[in-house]
This record gives sequence, C-alpha cells and structure tokens, in this order.
Amino acid sequence: MNDLPTPRPRRRTVLSGAFALGAGAVLGTALPGSAWAAATPVISGCAAWGSRPPSAPVKLLATAPHKIIVHHTATPNSTDYSQAHAFALSRSIQDSHMDEKGWIDSGQHFTISRGGWITEGRHSSAAALAGGTQQVESAHCTGQNTVAVGIENEGTYSTVDPLSAQYAKLVDLCAYICAQYGLRAYQIFGHRDFNNTECPGDRLYAMLPQLRADVAARIGGSPSWSGWPVARLGDTGERVRSLQHLLNSRGSTLTADGSFGPATESAVRAFQTTNRAGVDGVAGNQTWHQLSAPLGRGAAGDAVKALQVQLNARGQALVVDGSFGSGTEAGVRAFQTSAALPVDGVADARTWSRLLA
Ligand SMILES: [Zn+2]
Repeated sequence: MNDLPTPRPRRRTVLSGAFALGAGAVLGTALPGSAWAAATPVISGCAAWGSRPPSAPVKLLATAPHKIIVHHTATPNSTDYSQAHAFALSRSIQDSHMDEKGWIDSGQHFTISRGGWITEGRHSSAAALAGGTQQVESAHCTGQNTVAVGIENEGTYSTVDPLSAQYAKLVDLCAYICAQYGLRAYQIFGHRDFNNTECPGDRLYAMLPQLRADVAARIGGSPSWSGWPVARLGDTGERVRSLQHLLNSRGSTLTADGSFGPATESAVRAFQTTNRAGVDGVAGNQTWHQLSAPLGRGAAGDAVKALQVQLNARGQALVVDGSFGSGTEAGVRAFQTSAALPVDGVADARTWSRLLA
C-alpha cells in the first residue's frame, strides 16, 4: 500500500469504449463457465464487516479494469486466522485510509486476510465485480486507480511467503476477477511495477509468475509475461518515437523525432513524478507499465500514433494518423499472429511489450 490517489491527469487519456470489455469478451478461448459457480469466492461485503459509510459517494466507472495489482498491507503477520480478525483488519484499514490519508473510503477493492477471508474494501467493489462491466474508482496505486483492481494481502512479505490458505484465496479471487472482466492471467502485476514502493514485498512479488500460472490453469491461456525494454538518453529509433507519442498522450508536447534527448528525458522524469514511479529519466518497467493502455478499434490520439509507429517498424505501412481503424486493427492482428500471441486485434500490455521489445 503506502500510496496516494491518482493525481488528476492534465489531459484526458483518449480511450474508446472498446475497452469496456465484458466477461470473457477479450478471450480467444471460451471460459469454463459452468465451473465458475463452484469457484466463485465468498467475499464479505462492507456491511458484513461493519464498515463506516464513505465520506463522499464512491465513483462507479463505466469501464472494466484491464489489470489486477497485488499488494501486501505491510502490517504484522498475524497468527489470528479468524473471520473476526479479518473484519477487524478491514475496519482498521478503512479507518487509516479515511482518517490518516483523508480518502473517502478504503483505498483497495478487496482484502485477503492471513486466514484466507476475503473482504470488500471500497464500497460497491463486489457488486461491480459481480456485474463484470464496471469498476469502482479506487486509491491503491497512483496512475492505475481507474484501470486496475487492487487486492491487499494481509501481512508483510519481504522475507517470508504468504500462508498457503491465503495464497489459495488469492488464486481464487484473481481467477474470478479475470473471468468476470475478461482479463488474462498475465495481466496480474505487483504494486512495485507501477510505483516507487517495496510493496508487495520481495517474496510475494517473486510469486507473481506462479500466481499467473495458477490462474491460467483455471481460466486457460498462456501466463507468460516477458517484460519491457529500456529506453534512455542517447537512444534513437522507433521505440523512442513511440515513447514520445505515448508521453504526448499524457500531456507532454515532444517532437516525436525518435531521438531520446534532454527534452524527452525531462518529460520521462515529469511523468514518473506524477505517477509516483522511481524518478530516473529512464523508460523502464514502471514507466512503460504506466504509459501503456489497451488500444482497440475506435481509439484515437497520440497513443495510437505510438502503436502505428511500432506496427510500421514491424513491417506494416500504416499512416500514422492516431486513428485506430480497420487498417490498424489488421496490423495488430498480423503482429499478434507473427508473435504467437492471442489474435484479438487489441493492443494490450503483452502485445505492447512485444512490439517494443
Ligand atoms: Zn501496495
């Protein structure tokens, strides 16, 4: 945790309704629907654990999230595995977030106690998840609070692993979230992938590949996540040109010349500062994670230009016009085919990372 709400973007990121993907909509293979009734985890709602009302109305967003972010609470590794303790923990977190941080409610969407009890964090999170097309705006990861489900795991996992019962519930919850929102197993990340934080601890963070694999075993698909390249001062080429377009999509006014000079470095630093990433002026893991968003048919703007530049670098001959039409979609599909990725015409984080590699 240890985080603040997302600062207001200077310019609204242009995304189309194409990302309001419902249950299973983005998956290439059918979900084992009948199996899910049994696998739906029990989530104790805010009323069950005795929450306070939010200090202002929670905001229900019209779009589904496109990733899950795993946290640890950085609280003691309690040996009280009771539901009563889980409920007390939820009240304690809410009090801390409202009274100390000044948030309207709990920051996270869900919490998993050491005993494996799952509770709702911010009000209406469970209902939104059950619906599968909307999410509640949250406060668990700066830069991601309108696009990512946040799960807090009780404990501190810097030097020890979570308990097996707790981890099993994390798998259950992630698989359910993926099924409801049509996410893939590789779209599960840790808080430190986005912000300058130790969360979710070295040990839990190191378990994320296993978590992706365990979730993929439930919902299908490849869990592999290959990571992002690095771009830094002095670099040149199409990757840098894409970076510049992506920064412009977030309010920078760079000339997309494919040359990583001082102005680009300054823009990267400013973006990292705004998004509470480590500030080093180098575009690496956190920066690409924060810059990339899924792009599909109907999207428009500088981020689409970045995508078109990358597709052209991979052999397409698209006009770089910032408009995601049939030609761009065909280009994404062609690249996905050549890269052995699921072919859906949507440039998600894995397609982005492979394009930029
Ligand atoms: Zn965290």
